[in-house]
Amino acid sequence: MALDRRSFLLKSCLATAGLLGLGQAPARGSEVTTAADLGERDRGNDPWQVCRPRDPLQALLAGNARFAKAWKAADAAASQRQRARILSRPWEHNCYTSARELSGGQEPWAAILACADSRVAPEWIFDAALSDLFVIRSAGNTAFTAAVGSLEYDVGHLGIPLILVVGHSGCGAVQAARSADALSPNLSELVQPIRSSLTAGEDLNQAVRANARQTASQLTQNSELLRGAQAAGTLTIRSSFYDIQSGELSLI
Ligand SMILES: [Zn+2]
Repeated sequence: MALDRRSFLLKSCLATAGLLGLGQAPARGSEVTTAADLGERDRGNDPWQVCRPRDPLQALLAGNARFAKAWKAADAAASQRQRARILSRPWEHNCYTSARELSGGQEPWAAILACADSRVAPEWIFDAALSDLFVIRSAGNTAFTAAVGSLEYDVGHLGIPLILVVGHSGCGAVQAARSADALSPNLSELVQPIRSSLTAGEDLNQAVRANARQTASQLTQNSELLRGAQAAGTLTIRSSFYDIQSGELSLI
């Protein structure tokens, strides 16, 4: 019997989580929370909802906990094969959305405004799948005009309920903003908003946190649409700090 789209997606999620007996079920600890665990929102027959968590922020934190656990274990792995096996484990908890569904549209449930740093790939650090995250990146994760416009699109047209700003340890863009070294005109423009968040006496990672907090507040200052969504209770904006060494993200 052919599966309807909703049943197909639900079975894909459950199979990926090992809940249909199709292969070995993954170990399930208290730190593991899948989108399927978090449940399906009651929105009629929309098939995407089976892969959307009720609490997007909690889902991001749970995904990061899975990643950080694998990240630490992979660092101690004895071989490349063992490392690959460890790093693939978080994906066992992910929803799978078929190419057929993805080719028809996207249904992200969180927006990430992160630094362009090569060590801070959002889909990795949140153990997220394709179509889960709407990602905007630039060096220093600032609220530049194109970022705000992109977020207006994802909130206004895609209905995303959460924006998370992600700063990270050892950020080169924030370090450049703290430095008196000469910068090119474009780089000077890029670090200008970071400089406005700096406070004398802070270390680099304190400055990273201050910049992430400032970016989060500037999103609503610079956008009537985002400000309205937040005031209406349909949008949450948070800032966070990602530690490259541990792989752990903390809310600010
Ligand atoms: Zn950075």
